[in-house]
Amino acid sequence: MPDAILLDRLRAAVDAAFDEEVRFLQELVRFPSLRGAEAPLQDWMHRQLGAWGYAMDRFSLADVPLASHPKAAPMVDADPARSVQVVAAHRAANPTGRSLILQGHIDVVPEGPAAMWTHPPYAGVVRDGWLYGRGAHDMKAGVAAMVFAMDAIRAAGLEPAADVYLQTVTEEESTGNGALATLLRGYRAEAALIPEPTGHTITRAQTGTVWFRLKVRGVPVHVMVAQDGTNAIMSAYALIQALYAHTKTLNQAARANAWYGAMQDPIKFNPGIIRGGDWASSTPAWCEVDCRIGLVPGTTPEEAMRAVEQVVKDAARGDAFLANNPPEVVFHGFQTDPYVLEPGSEAEAVLAAAHAAVHGGEMPARLSTAVNDTRYYGLYMGVPGLCYGPKGEGAHGFDERTSLADLKTCTLTIAAFIADWCGVREAG
Ligand code: ZN
Repeated sequence: MPDAILLDRLRAAVDAAFDEEVRFLQELVRFPSLRGAEAPLQDWMHRQLGAWGYAMDRFSLADVPLASHPKAAPMVDADPARSVQVVAAHRAANPTGRSLILQGHIDVVPEGPAAMWTHPPYAGVVRDGWLYGRGAHDMKAGVAAMVFAMDAIRAAGLEPAADVYLQTVTEEESTGNGALATLLRGYRAEAALIPEPTGHTITRAQTGTVWFRLKVRGVPVHVMVAQDGTNAIMSAYALIQALYAHTKTLNQAARANAWYGAMQDPIKFNPGIIRGGDWASSTPAWCEVDCRIGLVPGTTPEEAMRAVEQVVKDAARGDAFLANNPPEVVFHGFQTDPYVLEPGSEAEAVLAAAHAAVHGGEMPARLSTAVNDTRYYGLYMGVPGLCYGPKGEGAHGFDERTSLADLKTCTLTIAAFIADWCGVREAG
């Protein structure tokens, strides 16, 4: 645990810079960093952190051999060359401590109808101790926390005694290829912390995720003779029903799962986007549905994908038209392994001590029914991937917001964690 004097120095530094941290987070929120449009924010981040003295690296997904990696996910609707990653390195002279990757995603999901928001989604409005906006909670607050945790160490007159990499990545909400790209670029450390907004809990396990697109055809006729055609939208609807039934079966089997057995319905299926048809008085000739399904530890994305294909095949067999015109299943994004952070790592113990020093008491654990990027570190790099961060609400919904009081305590917790994990020295 960081000693009391050191913690006081860090606390004073976090407090002194907190107004600046809030302004920094507002700036982050004001970039509508939707998929494919993250570069302006990444360019800004590159300039900011460069000005603060970090050694900077900026590269796109086209600059790394993504396609050759077995865990790269398909990017059907996005251009790798436009997907910019940024790494800011603190390189310690004669390192004596343990190295660390601090990573956050800066991509956000679409905000939906602006009229449904109390405050404009990209304004960064602060009201009654909350900062509002798309991404304020998931996870630009965490990005601000990790940047200002490092800044607090510097402002306290100290520096980490090991290499620390601050990484801002894209594609967390669609493939995970941004995080994977930093590995392919060569970045390594002895632990990774990703401050997703977990409300000061450690993520013990996460489910995997698979994205797929159903492409369904129909026979277009004038609706006055609808009986002579087929309706691709209604055919897609039948497939969606079959996939819900499949999910129910999967959740029954998940009751025996070592990690998720006690949770009601840990596997979530979601038809998230639907497109189709050309005219209200023509039976639709086509329909596409973008879907997402989860998978629990002990199963693989490949198994989940084969099962989806089978469900669609079986459902199509029962339909006269679809039996001869089988729907296509295109895997167009996430193909994510579930990940369990095995208890007992030294990195988790150090984080738990930092949490206890700031919040008092044990660091609670949670199970997530979605993915985060820690899996790359835990599964493919062999170091603990810690997912722990600030507190807010409304992820992917309206009036998304982060609690500023919790942002401050989280920043201090991360600073204390860095100080203890990496060690600190008086800055020269
Ligand atoms: Zn997130």
